[in-house]
Amino acid sequence: MDTHGLLDTLRREIHRRRRMSARLMVVFSMITVLGFSAVCGSVLIDMRRGAEDLARQTLENLAASIDADIDRNLELYDSALRTVAGKLLLPELSAVDPTIARLILFDHSVAAPQFGAIRIYDQHGNLMRDSAVPNPAAENRADQPFFTAQHDDPNLGLFIGKPQQLDGAYSLIVSRRVTGQDGQFLGVVAGSIKFDYFQDLFKRLRLQPNDMIAVLAHDGTLITRAPLTPELIGKNMMFTPGVQKMFGRRSGWFAGAGTLDGVKRMFVWSDSTRPLVVLVAKSWDDIYAMWRREAIWIGIALLVLATFVAAVTVFFIHEIDRRAEAERRLEELATTDPLTGLTNRRKFDAAIDAEWRRAARQNSSIALLMIDADHFKAFNDSFGHQAGDQMLVGIAVCIADTVQRASDCAARFGGEEFAVLLPGLSVQAAVSVAETIRRKVEQWSNLEGGVTVSIGVASTKPTASQHWQDLVEVADRALYGAKELGRNRCVVGGRSEITLVA
Ligand code: GH3
Ligand code: MG
Ligand code: MG
Repeated sequence: MDTHGLLDTLRREIHRRRRMSARLMVVFSMITVLGFSAVCGSVLIDMRRGAEDLARQTLENLAASIDADIDRNLELYDSALRTVAGKLLLPELSAVDPTIARLILFDHSVAAPQFGAIRIYDQHGNLMRDSAVPNPAAENRADQPFFTAQHDDPNLGLFIGKPQQLDGAYSLIVSRRVTGQDGQFLGVVAGSIKFDYFQDLFKRLRLQPNDMIAVLAHDGTLITRAPLTPELIGKNMMFTPGVQKMFGRRSGWFAGAGTLDGVKRMFVWSDSTRPLVVLVAKSWDDIYAMWRREAIWIGIALLVLATFVAAVTVFFIHEIDRRAEAERRLEELATTDPLTGLTNRRKFDAAIDAEWRRAARQNSSIALLMIDADHFKAFNDSFGHQAGDQMLVGIAVCIADTVQRASDCAARFGGEEFAVLLPGLSVQAAVSVAETIRRKVEQWSNLEGGVTVSIGVASTKPTASQHWQDLVEVADRALYGAKELGRNRCVVGGRSEITLVA
């Protein structure tokens, strides 16, 4: 391969690499953006899960601390009721003065403000004693659940009633059975826990507007709730699947919507074996609030990054295209003859080299015309160099007008000499093209002041031992033959002889 062929291959390689680098750039940018998105996505998923775990732990701790407080107070009160029930069995009690008996029965352990008065009822439900009043008015509570439950079931233990209004405020009635030495029912010791206790307890916790705390009895009855909603107090909540689930497992959580407000929340309970079970809830909106803010920022950052990467990619691709186009133009300039616009000698050499090898491979013909202006020196001398230039442009137009196939190559070979490469053409076909050119120049220059061309024609099927310069030589010899024979004619060059055609 000669220098021109090598240069061409190099140029093609550079162009191919440019396109490759543009494509690689797009792929690289997409991988970068997708990679960042994947990392951010996975971080966000982790953060969301983290927010959920944190909320669950916080709610578990909250439920456990409320549980502990309620349990402690309930135990305290229950122990006071049991103490009273126990003391009632003391035989000495009936022997002492009623005032002394009251002092013995009701000590100060039940004086806390959250607890109501302790009352003692006999086996018929008649009020016998009241820790708050020395001589209580007669009343009978034999029909009340706190009494009947203890009356009917000797092993009931602590009875916790439904919330009810006592003295204008909600209270929770609790009771203990008084059982005689031989198991007989002697009456009931009853007391009440004021709702204020629960509300004070809830107020001490810093709750958000959508947080919810509920205290439930084992039959699903809603004892109390924060925020306090009187319409739900005392209602059985067992109809909600979440509450059912709560009594099926000791601790856990479920997702559900608020019965009243429909707000979607995470519900957590810490121990459903306690006498009163605490359920705490936080809205998912609150749980994800911080996460959502961070997700938005990360999303914006990602979008900015993607836009930046896309802009940089577009800029570089544009730059690559621009350079490629500039190079293509330079290339065009470097391979075009500036005066005539035909291919220049350098490009022609590369073209004939490539076509020669192709013809050798395909065992096809390749024809060459060598065209030279007749008596051009004389023309220049008569009409000036500029008119000569014009004449050369005219000859180039006649040539280009005739030679139009994509594989053909019309070039300015040097000075007032042109070459036309006609791959695939036999001698006859090439002569016909040459004649057309000659005639066109003749006709046109007749009008313009008279210059003719002589054309040497050569055509061959290249063999491995030949070089394209051999073809040029044959065409050149034919051209000189044409000159010698009087100019303005086409002559075919052969191996040994020169054939006159026109
Ligand atoms: P022949 O018929 O034997 O070819 O005679 P000729 O005068 O054409 O041949 P010769 O080689 O003696 O002269 C060629 C002339 O072509 C010489 C030069 O002035 C002229 N020439 C070469 N290149 C250019 C060019 O670019 N522009 C102009 N105007 N003239 C050119
Ligand atoms: Mg010449
Ligand atoms: Mg000449």
